[in-house]
Amino acid sequence: MSTKSLLVTCRIDIAGRAHDCQANSRHRINKGDVRLKVRNGLGWDHYCSECAKKIFAKDLAKIAQLEKLEPEVTE
Ligand SMILES: [Zn+2]
Repeated sequence: MSTKSLLVTCRIDIAGRAHDCQANSRHRINKGDVRLKVRNGLGWDHYCSECAKKIFAKDLAKIAQLEKLEPEVTE
């Protein structure tokens, strides 16, 4: 079956134990915190909600660009 979503590799879950955010080791994710989970090879990367918001903002801009259906000029 073909994939009809670009976002199959990410989801939101709740941290089962405390650990550092994978975008910034100074960000602590506590047990019970909501976090963004992104597929990375066979495993998952986990980001705090602050980093998740930044990632979403960046990807929303990217989707807005993709929506224009303008081919990228490649040399
Ligand atoms: Zn973070």
